Amino acid sequence: MSQADHVLRRGALRRGDSGPRVSALRDLLLRAGVDVPGAPRPGGAGPDGTGPDGTGPDGTEELDTFGTALEQAVRAFQQARGLRADGVVGRQTSRALDGARWRLGDRVLRYVPGHLLHGDDVVALQSRLLSLGLLDDRRDGRYGPRTEAGVQELQRSCGTAADGVVGPATVDALRRLDRSVGGGDASALRDAERTAQARRRTGHVVLVHPAHGGDDPGALGHGLREADVVLDLAQRLEGRLAASGTAVVLSRGATQEPSAEDAADLADAVGADVVLALHCDALTPVRGSADPARLPASPARGVATFSWGSATSRSVEGARLAGLVHREVLARTGLADLRTHTWDTDVLRLTRMPAVRVELGYLTSPEDAAELADPAFRDRCAEALAAAVHRFFLEADQDVPTGLLPVVAAPSG
Ligand SMILES: [Zn+2]
Repeated sequence: MSQADHVLRRGALRRGDSGPRVSALRDLLLRAGVDVPGAPRPGGAGPDGTGPDGTGPDGTEELDTFGTALEQAVRAFQQARGLRADGVVGRQTSRALDGARWRLGDRVLRYVPGHLLHGDDVVALQSRLLSLGLLDDRRDGRYGPRTEAGVQELQRSCGTAADGVVGPATVDALRRLDRSVGGGDASALRDAERTAQARRRTGHVVLVHPAHGGDDPGALGHGLREADVVLDLAQRLEGRLAASGTAVVLSRGATQEPSAEDAADLADAVGADVVLALHCDALTPVRGSADPARLPASPARGVATFSWGSATSRSVEGARLAGLVHREVLARTGLADLRTHTWDTDVLRLTRMPAVRVELGYLTSPEDAAELADPAFRDRCAEALAAAVHRFFLEADQDVPTGLLPVVAAPSG
């Protein structure tokens, strides 16, 4: 039984819980590199201000007590991993924590059918295979048959036994290759080739993932729930794209709450050419509070757009799609410009096709919330997203300036 299994054994952990499972959770967070207030550093020495009785710097949190500080640490971990940042340690968070403690070389990796090894070491391995052109896949952090095939190809090219088992010799080979090969080029070429093939076809498929849903409202502010806003936007976008012959698949209805993994699996299953994940943002301190009276006056507002990227690699076509989405949204909505970024978050990492996550406005901003409550504004957002998808599949010599591509109006209703 792994430590994460131990943490989860009696259901989810949340604020107010106490006991050895909470101590084990602190340990998992520390190993995952999360700063946990009040917990001893690995090696035994306490941080400055830690009392001998194990209280935190504020003197309030025992090591085996799940208090506010620990909840903040859990949220920070969840946010960094693209998980629902609710501060509750359920199955997904526990699984991510379990995977986060492994560094490449810590253990021997191999393909075990029916029981796939997962963790950050597998992600690191897949990153390197991807940058070497030995993996034609995004990194899902699971050691499956495609990862094994990539490892075997690496081993053959190094003249070692192609057993697909990543032990010290294979890790050494990867480290030597890292120094001699620039990252990202091979996967960028394959990305571009895939898009070029899609351009030559008609009948593109777009997987739209309106985030959250079901029991998870997402961000809240000014009477709006993120889950409702993005589902409505997704349906408006579906109408526009369908009218122009592009098939749209939504990852959920109002009552479902698909994970990023579910959305990525669906994108594979329907042969999606691109993936759009729709979110609205909110100031983190008020996440979970629906009471507008508690919202601080804040300048945080605007639109930010993300494509997949890490320290060693990035999706070139994803970045191109993100640029188109971002510019069209700015031109058609007037939302403030929070720029485009790369982000190694789940839905972007797990999908194999160009994927974009767009955060359309802050529900905690009075200005953004007022706009997002307006159906006409939502139509303009949907138009912007539809125009970006169209432009993505146009040849360079057919492209049109930002904000000018006419988009077929959706049937009203
Ligand atoms: Zn969200």
